Amino acid sequence: MTRPFRLSDPKRARALADAIRILAPVAPFKIVHVCGTHEMAITRNGLRRFLPETVDLLEGPGCPVCVTPAADIDEAIAIARAGATLCTFGDMMRVPGSERSLDNARSDGCDVRAVLSASDAVDLAREAKHDVVFFAVGFETTAPMTAAILLDDPPANLSVLVSHKQIPQAMAALLDLPDSRIDAYLAPGHVSTIIGTRGYEPWLVKRRIPIVVGGFEPLDILYAVALILRQHQDAAPAVENGYPRAVDTHGNPAAQALIDTVFETADVRWRGIGCIPDSGYALRAALEAFDARRRFSLDLPEPRDEIPGCRCPDVLTARAVPTECPLFAKRCTPLSPIGPCMVGSEGACSIWFRYGGREAL
Ligand code: SF4
Repeated sequence: MTRPFRLSDPKRARALADAIRILAPVAPFKIVHVCGTHEMAITRNGLRRFLPETVDLLEGPGCPVCVTPAADIDEAIAIARAGATLCTFGDMMRVPGSERSLDNARSDGCDVRAVLSASDAVDLAREAKHDVVFFAVGFETTAPMTAAILLDDPPANLSVLVSHKQIPQAMAALLDLPDSRIDAYLAPGHVSTIIGTRGYEPWLVKRRIPIVVGGFEPLDILYAVALILRQHQDAAPAVENGYPRAVDTHGNPAAQALIDTVFETADVRWRGIGCIPDSGYALRAALEAFDARRRFSLDLPEPRDEIPGCRCPDVLTARAVPTECPLFAKRCTPLSPIGPCMVGSEGACSIWFRYGGREAL
């Protein structure tokens, strides 16, 4: 099978669609991806039209904002209420905590600010005389940036509330959920540039399902789906690179070194899934002075992730699509979101609302 070097090529798209049709199994086959950018490309370009009836392609826990648990948002709000300036990415502002969101906290008078990067938080801290806390969310792609600011002589009034997560461990955990019925993964191109294809192996090779890294152009995604189906037909599951122009086996050693220097792995909670062993990061002891959880000695009530009527836990685990939620596009819209999947720009509900979802394609 040739590689999709040309990005907008109707002939190649037709050839890939034919290959997918020929390789498609007769029995239902569920491919899950874990990347909001993939969902955006799939939905916006109507790629599900290219898939045979038996092949389903769903988003799992690929939106970092959506998988941030209420517990972490409660901590961020408590820190802001304690008088610190709390800064984080804009998408986090409206994600619900147990009772309130960061946006609500800002309305209550707390100093909560949206920043574009971790280094913006450093700039804020250098100008301030009080505590500035960076609420650090995201996967292996954003963790190196948080690590970098902590290795670059940060001001003493800066600390970090770490909520970074690791994708391969979540992919493995999803396979063990009741009713998950996942047959293959389309692995995320962005994360894979950091961890390389070998980053999936410790967690997923023994699970014996196809895992193909895909890029973000429509042809990249169709190509990755074809590779997945070919692995399935050949009964030869493996971690395979379908995005070789950006991803290699070993990933980005410099980014990995930043992560390893600053973080150790930790058991963390994912919204919709629960606690996954070794699936997150905590600051190493040498950097504990910059750990917001230590600096603010938080002691909060038990968090509450569930939102009545919201099916985000099912959407985040690829056990439902947004339109299966009775609130979708009725009580829950991007202007008035109820669950995190409608808040985050990479959330499945938000993307399906904006671009039509599967039914409208
Ligand atoms: S439509 Fe809204 S309430 Fe329903 S699952 Fe999505 S975010 Fe939750």
